[in-house]
Amino acid sequence: MIQKICDSCERTIEVEDDLAGQKVACEACGDINIMPEVGTGEVHEAITATDRLAKMGLPPDSGPEKPAIKVRPAMLKARPVLFGTLVLVLVSGLVGIVWGLIGEPAGAKTAAKIGGGIGAIVVLGVLGVWKIKTLSAALEITNKRTVLRRGLLSRATSEVVHDNIRNVQITQTFWQRLWGVGTLGLSSSGQDGIEIEIGDIPNPERVRKVIDAYRPLG
Ligand SMILES: [Zn+2]
Repeated sequence: MIQKICDSCERTIEVEDDLAGQKVACEACGDINIMPEVGTGEVHEAITATDRLAKMGLPPDSGPEKPAIKVRPAMLKARPVLFGTLVLVLVSGLVGIVWGLIGEPAGAKTAAKIGGGIGAIVVLGVLGVWKIKTLSAALEITNKRTVLRRGLLSRATSEVVHDNIRNVQITQTFWQRLWGVGTLGLSSSGQDGIEIEIGDIPNPERVRKVIDAYRPLG
């Protein structure tokens, strides 16, 4: 086999030896490449593309589909102030319950028990619903495509093959940038607008780098 990095999309083109020195169309982008003679340096370049992915801890783009990374929306990083406040209210509620239960019964202690109990239940409820919401969305990136799954019981999925991705967009507010979270949007060629969007994901730059490593650039 002879390998060559496509001049246009930088994917690896692999053909039988008898096509050495011949013009071959890239399977990914259709660009015409002149294949190297057997045993020239360009074969080495092709291996480097796989090495580059391996260095990033990612599976090669050729071969069977393999998972690369999976991300879910963050809680603490997405809403640090809200998350911190909820935890503070929860801890205060629990302290109130304990204080209300020990020592001589008194009106203030009864109020602390009831108030603390209601506070703790409300906070646990809010945190529980929030947690379920984050669990119900996941972005799974393989060496072939990006898949967005939504919903716990009934699942809705949308996906884009890496070769068809036209743009990877990260939207971050000032605070989101500080906390390292953001919204990631993927638009594909052929259809207008963003087709896949997921908010509050941790380290969106890393996710973009992984997707970029698999898609043809330039
Ligand atoms: Zn190509």
